[in-house]
Amino acid sequence: MNAIPDYNAMGDDAFRHEVRTFFEAEYPQELRYILRRARWAEMKDWWRKLYEKGWAAPNWPCEWGGMGLDAVKMLIFMAEIERHGIARAPDQGITHIGPILMKFGTDAQKQHYLPRSLAGEYVWCQGYSEPNAGSDLASLQTSAAIDGDRFVINGQKIWTSLADDATHIYVLVRTDKQAKRKQEGISLVLAETKTPGITIRPIRNIAGHEEFCHVFFDNVHVPRENLVGKLNDGWTVAKALLSFERLSIGSPRRPSYALRRLEMLARATGLLSDAAFMDRYLALKLDIEDLGSLYGRFVEQVKRGEPLWQDVSMLKIWSMETWQRLTELLVETGGEEGVITGVRNIAGAEADILDSFYYARPGTILGGTSEIQRNILSRYVLELPT
Ligand SMILES: Cc1cc2nc3c(=O)[nH]c(=O)nc-3n(C[C@H](O)[C@H](O)[C@H](O)COP(=O)(O)OP(=O)(O)OC[C@H]3O[C@@H](n4cnc5c(N)ncnc54)[C@H](O)[C@@H]3O)c2cc1C
Repeated sequence: MNAIPDYNAMGDDAFRHEVRTFFEAEYPQELRYILRRARWAEMKDWWRKLYEKGWAAPNWPCEWGGMGLDAVKMLIFMAEIERHGIARAPDQGITHIGPILMKFGTDAQKQHYLPRSLAGEYVWCQGYSEPNAGSDLASLQTSAAIDGDRFVINGQKIWTSLADDATHIYVLVRTDKQAKRKQEGISLVLAETKTPGITIRPIRNIAGHEEFCHVFFDNVHVPRENLVGKLNDGWTVAKALLSFERLSIGSPRRPSYALRRLEMLARATGLLSDAAFMDRYLALKLDIEDLGSLYGRFVEQVKRGEPLWQDVSMLKIWSMETWQRLTELLVETGGEEGVITGVRNIAGAEADILDSFYYARPGTILGGTSEIQRNILSRYVLELPT
């Protein structure tokens, strides 16, 4: 990996130019603007290039090999990612568990996991949800019994995104079944996905993609040193991780890609001179501008070392609902072709509109549903009675 310069000291234009030049020269053409979850097999070469350049973790501090970007530079970096249509690699090691290990991990865990996650040697997935514990995550039943210097895990996780691409899973388990409150007695444990007893079964979604999986744990032995944070205090760690997840989901990237598709279609079909269309299109474009500002505010908060608070739920709602509104307009703009699966030719423009619509639908479910985010905002931000 190259030595990382102080990008924050660079002028904005010079930084933008450097990022743009690199992306244009190095990112594979065939992976631009894909409107589905990218898989590790197709992204790993790109990851290696980013890693060698020192750009795999724009949000991490420099001491751990990140770019240490401030909010302004981070937004420029994101804008260039969007401009060039760069897909999101399976990056939970960088966006989710990396920051958690920096905050709650032991020195040995940081030294072991952070460099390997950065290098793409370790690819992570999130084992939180269970068939009967989604919104009500604290009801989770997957258990980890302590047996000498190891945990023995039994249970089942579901909707685990890209688990079949992952080398590692961070998994929420119940370590004390007698605890008075269900939030107590939960711990966060790390495991290799190839550990005997772990079975991963992909689930096909409505668009026909196998984006998430069932993960079964059958007497899975994991060393006790894989515990993150304190025993039975996993809820604190889990909540902090969910805040980082909401920040990462709240990036303007996905709505921006849909907006570009919409612009392309509107240009091809002549809708850019239609006042009714322009009214809706410009409102959505401004919604994405607002999203960018809000995202920048939270990025800056993280950079200052301040914890993310419950108000980050605003970002998750705004990002995902804007994305859905955009893909709804995309389908309308596509007319008859917009409701047929596969890449269609619409007035000379090629697009898979229905796929992008399907891709956006679970946005208001994953990472905590919009209803739950609104409950959080009403309770903690607006302080309304529960
Ligand atoms: C594409 C995708 C990827 C995902 N990836 C992962 C992953 O990698 N790892 C992981 O652990 N999980 C993952 N999930 C699971 C996700 O976190 C859960 O689906 C989500 O938390 C909702 O839980 P649930 O599906 O059990 O729905 P439920 O909790 O059963 O909710 C059903 C409905 O009831 C509503 N509801 C529930 N409780 C309340 C309440 N108190 N007030 C108001 N309304 C309420 C919900 O909003 C929802 O509309 C993923 C989900 C999707 C769709």
